[in-house]
Amino acid sequence: MRIGIGSDIHRLQPGDGMKIGGVLIPCEFGCIAVSDGDVLLHALVDALLGATGAGDIGERYPESRVAPGEDSARYVREVLADLKGVRVENVDCIVHLEQPKLSPWKDAIRHSLAGLLGIESGQVGVKAKTAEGLDAVGRGEAVAVQVVVLIGLPSE
Ligand code: MG
Repeated sequence: MRIGIGSDIHRLQPGDGMKIGGVLIPCEFGCIAVSDGDVLLHALVDALLGATGAGDIGERYPESRVAPGEDSARYVREVLADLKGVRVENVDCIVHLEQPKLSPWKDAIRHSLAGLLGIESGQVGVKAKTAEGLDAVGRGEAVAVQVVVLIGLPSE
């Protein structure tokens, strides 16, 4: 078994929604990013890469090679394909966001992540926390995510 950790933070700006874990959350904000700005999928990619000592998302997908608005699910699929035979045991995520409240979307995010990873939604945890008005997240200037993933290697 191997464990990986990933985190990411994106600045927010006025907009018409942000993608979190492959789910478009309708709100009056959007992420500032070159890709679709899916902060959770970026952290997930780093967790998967970290679990296998395979570098990080910035090395693998430098901004110069990212197409504007491109679907971050591609990064997850490609990294999984490279980690041949690796099985994801579970993934747990914390989304730090002041607003909107993510409660109505957490199950959809879990199902989306489970689909991407080829696992059951019971193997995916998604928690949402505000920052109580503190720091950049608390001021509504950013969304941040932490992810841990446990994987099994093919030989095990
Ligand atoms: Mg990112």
